[in-house]
Amino acid sequence: MSGAQPLLPGATLGVLGGGQLGRMFVHAAQAMGYFTAVLDADPNSPAGLVSHHHIRTAYEDPDGLAQLAGLSDAVTTEFENVPAQALRTLGAERPVAPAADAVAIAQDRAAEKAHFGRCGVPCAPYAVIASAAELAAVDAALLPGILKTARMGYDGKGQSRVKTREELADAWQAMGEVPCVLEKMLPLALECSVIVARGADGACVHLPVQRNLHRAGILAVTEVHEGNVPADLAEQAVAAAKSIAEGLRYVGVLCVEFFVLQDGSLVVNEIAPRPHNSGHYSQNACDVSQFELQVRTMAGLPLTQPRQHSPAVMLNLLGDLWFPQGTHAQPQTPAWAAVLALPGTHLHLYGKADAKPGRKMGHLNVTAATAEAARATALQAAALLGIEAF
Ligand code: ATP
Ligand code: MG
Repeated sequence: MSGAQPLLPGATLGVLGGGQLGRMFVHAAQAMGYFTAVLDADPNSPAGLVSHHHIRTAYEDPDGLAQLAGLSDAVTTEFENVPAQALRTLGAERPVAPAADAVAIAQDRAAEKAHFGRCGVPCAPYAVIASAAELAAVDAALLPGILKTARMGYDGKGQSRVKTREELADAWQAMGEVPCVLEKMLPLALECSVIVARGADGACVHLPVQRNLHRAGILAVTEVHEGNVPADLAEQAVAAAKSIAEGLRYVGVLCVEFFVLQDGSLVVNEIAPRPHNSGHYSQNACDVSQFELQVRTMAGLPLTQPRQHSPAVMLNLLGDLWFPQGTHAQPQTPAWAAVLALPGTHLHLYGKADAKPGRKMGHLNVTAATAEAARATALQAAALLGIEAF
């Protein structure tokens, strides 16, 4: 993108992928007066259901990509496992943000970790395992560890915790001997993430540091308020996230996930080349949301530093909530009315027809005047919904 001539409202913004992130991008783009086009094979995809245009083909389909390029003045992605080649194809026709090369790095844990090294940001000690020789050569100091497939993992899928060499060998075999990274299991004190948005002109802004609680490998709760993370660590995390984005010459919204270890040090975990679940609170707690930042970066509009106006807690609403007591009986509608009777609750549902355990169905943002009040209300909402206290 040249950056000189922004795409103004009235233009059409395209997105590869029709999941919930695409849906919330579409909402933000439409609110600003843009038209939208979504490419996703699923006729009921959350973003396809609300977009002006919905192209129902696979990501690699040349006709589908040509249609998307034909309809759109610029294209973005909402799903990190969209083949980078599809972005390259589109990039030859239209401005694409983020660019295929940056997405390709984020799609591959080995390439991603090499990039962290180039940026001087520490990550967990690791080894790449792509062959039997590399498996045999693994340093015992990496055990106990987590074996992760280099590609296509999300929500803790494609991961296996291993304590011994035997378990490691078995886990690699069970993964089909695909390229993997073995990471040392680190003693975590907490997890946090930072969302940055970088324009084609190099301007870079960020959302405040998010403190995240994962359960069973899936994000469960995000808390964002003054003091959620020690101030020096928050500063370090923002600086590291910006240097990772700059190193990629990144254009778009990027999420960087971090671990804070028990000794107080900060370690980068992974990046997502798109808005992120941990940034959803920004829809109701900040004057600019992560989805508006995505619109602005791809349209070449100015970026202004977002301001959080309310302390916030975000609760993920997984499909499990539709099945109280773990029954496999008929799904039951969660107690939305009772939750919405609490002050400062903002319900976001993704329009997915079938609730399934572990499936992200929506999220609840809770805002309040103080962090204590946001937390107290979020705990009340959690109790009503059957989400374990945090
Ligand atoms: P997502 O895409 O949902 O963020 P993912 O499948 O890419 O998840 P990771 O972020 O790599 O998975 O790991 C999921 C969670 O597992 C982390 O948030 C953390 O709680 C735990 N975890 C991962 N790697 C390590 C590690 N090296 N040491 C300790 N815990 C870890
Ligand atoms: Mg993760």
